Amino acid sequence: MKKLVFATGNANKVKEVNELLDGSLEVLSLKDIGFEEELPETTGTIAGNALQKARTLYRALNVDCFAEDTGLEVNALNGEPGVNSARYAGAAKSSEDNIDLLLKNLAGSPNRKARFRTVVALILDGKEYLFEGIAEGEILLERVGTGGFGYDPVFLPKGAKKTFAQMNADEKNAISHRGKAIRKLISFLKNKIG
Ligand code: IMP
Repeated sequence: MKKLVFATGNANKVKEVNELLDGSLEVLSLKDIGFEEELPETTGTIAGNALQKARTLYRALNVDCFAEDTGLEVNALNGEPGVNSARYAGAAKSSEDNIDLLLKNLAGSPNRKARFRTVVALILDGKEYLFEGIAEGEILLERVGTGGFGYDPVFLPKGAKKTFAQMNADEKNAISHRGKAIRKLISFLKNKIG
């Protein structure tokens, strides 16, 4: 079976990806392969950071791998927090603080439109490929739901009646930014390596 390393330390993301796999591919986390170094994310763009993480791992271990980077882009905030989504409220990367700051910065704004953007960067046999997934939606006035992670409790996907934090993993994966990008990755890999 084809093995690929997912260059992330985020167990939530590995879980989401594994739920999308149908046994045609085995995805190993950084923890699974004992890679403990922090991967830099300093390029200033979502696609750049995804590539930077994949390249760092590829150069260190020479393994086929992919990395992803995700940002929440809010229209009324000129696309912020965007690439800074994880550290929006500071270096502690606290989701609670990030949501509090987001709601504060959007207070009084009638325009709540936002989107999650994920870019997956794959390095396969030394060649680089990018896959993007976008989920449109809006930011609620307060948190609703307790599942998911990050900004999920305040994100209502377009056309949905529940926030990402009220959905089970299958429901979220079916329409999420990461689900879309990862499905593109999987279908590419199936065509490429069978
Ligand atoms: P990163 O891709 O790990 O840098 O994530 C950037 C930020 O977006 C972090 O604060 C994550 O918690 C948040 N984030 C990433 N993916 C999701 C998601 O699917 N739902 C909600 N928040 C997310």
